Parts: sequence; C-alpha cells; structure tokens
Amino acid sequence: MTAQPGLVDAQGRAFRNLRVSLTAACNYACTYCVPKGKQLHRARHELDVVQFLRAVDYLIEIAGIDKLRITGGEPLLSPQFDAFLPAVMQRPLADVSLTTNGQFLLEKLPLLKASGIRRINVSLDTLNPVAFRKICRSGDLPTVLAGIDAALGAGIRVKVNMVPMRSANEDQIVPLLDYCLARGIELRYIELMRMGHWQGNPDYARELVPMSRILALLGQRYAYVRTAGEFDATAARFEIPGKGFFGIIANESLPFCATCSRLRLSSAGFLHGCLSNTQRHYIADLLELPRAEAVPQLRERLQLALADKQPLAFGGSETVMRWIGG
Ligand code: SAM
Repeated sequence: MTAQPGLVDAQGRAFRNLRVSLTAACNYACTYCVPKGKQLHRARHELDVVQFLRAVDYLIEIAGIDKLRITGGEPLLSPQFDAFLPAVMQRPLADVSLTTNGQFLLEKLPLLKASGIRRINVSLDTLNPVAFRKICRSGDLPTVLAGIDAALGAGIRVKVNMVPMRSANEDQIVPLLDYCLARGIELRYIELMRMGHWQGNPDYARELVPMSRILALLGQRYAYVRTAGEFDATAARFEIPGKGFFGIIANESLPFCATCSRLRLSSAGFLHGCLSNTQRHYIADLLELPRAEAVPQLRERLQLALADKQPLAFGGSETVMRWIGG
C-alpha cells in the first residue's frame, strides 16, 4: 500500500512500520529500560481492543502501514493481547510480529500458533541466570529458554534481541551468538540507546558497547561478512558462512534515521513519529468520532508526527522506551 499524498516528508520518508504498545506495564524492570527503584505500571487510561483495532485500520488506510509489531511494556501481560493478536492477523498487512521478554511464551504458545503469526522477537541479554536477574530485576531464565525452544518447535521464527552493556553482559556477546546459531535464531545486538534515564547520563558512555567492539569480539571467534539489508532495515546484517546470520542495530554508530519508516502507537493512545523527539500526538479522542470526522483529523496528526522525525542522526530523548515499546 502506498502512502497518500502529503504523508511523505522532505527526505522521502513515509510511515510503513507500526509498533503498537499494548500496555505500559511490564513484569521486568530491565536496567537499560527502567531507572533503579521504578515499577512498571499500566498507563492510567489504556486503549481497549476495539480502539486499538480501529486505530490500526485507520493507520493502514491513511498512512499506508504494511508491517505491524506488537510490543509494550510486556505485550503478553496485556488483557487486550488475546483478542488483539488474532484480529490483527486478519488485517491486510504484509507482516505481523511480536516483541516479548518471553516469560509467558509457553502459556501463550497455543494462541500464537492458532493466530498464524510467523515470527517473534524475544529479548534475552544473557545466558547466566544470576546476571539475568540483575539485568531484568525479575523473571526466570529457564522459563524464557523453554519458551524459545517451544516457539521454534511450533515452527515460529525467533529472533533474539540483546542490549550489550559494558558492566552487565559484555561477556555474553559471543556465548549468546553460539546459542542462537545452534538453534537457527538470528541474534540482533542493540546498541544501548540514549533513551529515558540514559539521556544526559554520564554513565552512558561507560556502558555503551559500540558496533566496532561487538564486531571485534565476534571476530575473535567467527569469520563474518556484511550482507545487504532492505531499504529501511534498521539492522546492519552479517553472515557467518555456513552457520547463520546476526545483526547489529547501531543507533549510535550507524544511525538509520534517513530511512526510518516507523510510527509508534502507545497504549495511552499517543502517536510517536520519532524516538529522538519527545513530541507525541493524542489520537484516542478521534477513535470515538464518526469515521468521516476522524479520518481528516487523524491525517493532520499523522502529518505532525511525520514532521517530528529527525533529519539524520539519532540523538536520543527523554521518552521512556517502556511506554512506546522500543
Ligand atoms: N517487554 C518486551 C521485551 O522485553 O522485548 C517489549 C518491550 S521492550 C521496551 C522492547 C525492546 O526495547 C527490547 O528489545 C529492549 O531490549 C529494548 N530497549 C529498551 N530500552 C533500551 C535502551 N535504552 N537501549 C536499547 N534498547 C532498549
């Protein structure tokens, strides 16, 4: 589907990929996502499944969204998830995926299988159970690993997301790739982003493990070659011939803002056009209007959201990842 006139910016960018955060609540409080001592609660007024689906339908129609990722908070915690997933799978989308911490994957697997979802991303930052509890401040590593194996066994493609941090899990950069390659999983290293409590934080530079260091560590064990990515792919992708692939989402080292096609819908009903920008646009009010009134107003708000995109480099922002789903 192509975007309607006016919904393309001066850089030629349009919204194609929608991330829907089903709830701001999370059962984890990962150190890269949440400041110490904070708990993750649902937003005061979260959209219900009818509102989420209405928003998705309008955004497909007006903006030309063709890929959708369900995220959070922790999306599998959302009371909307069980109704939202099968319904969204019926929409005219080229791709539907899910990002989860994997803690409830085993319980939700029958629903995932029945929905026909083909791929999921699981956040997994270490294979060491002690470090796991330190990073996630909750959760149970064997349960997550069992969920990953069960998803693979059910024929669902799995990618693993890892955020390497100097003091927490740099030693896991190679072991996690060994684990993923052995299972046919594509591992994606995500450079620590200057979001939320990292914005302006002097510890940020100490904790960041840049792409160059990730590659240097991997190069001691594997010979890899860079592969071509899609036009708006955010990850630099590499192949280890005969063994598999991995990617690096290098927000700092290789910013991908120039081809960013992402739009985010928070559970509280706000559109976010750019992670580097604290601007957001409330649309929940429009979801109650008759269609003829809602569509032109939503179009205007989408134009504002598109204008929020940064011209080139990712600068980070005080926006908190858990509200908008990474
Ligand atoms: N709860 C789900 C999960 O754990 O996958 C979905 C939400 S989580 C916010 C989505 C992604 O954001 C995760 O892959 C996580 O690793 C990433 N993330 C959160 N804060 C980050 C940061 N400061 N830098 C880089 N990635 C971050």
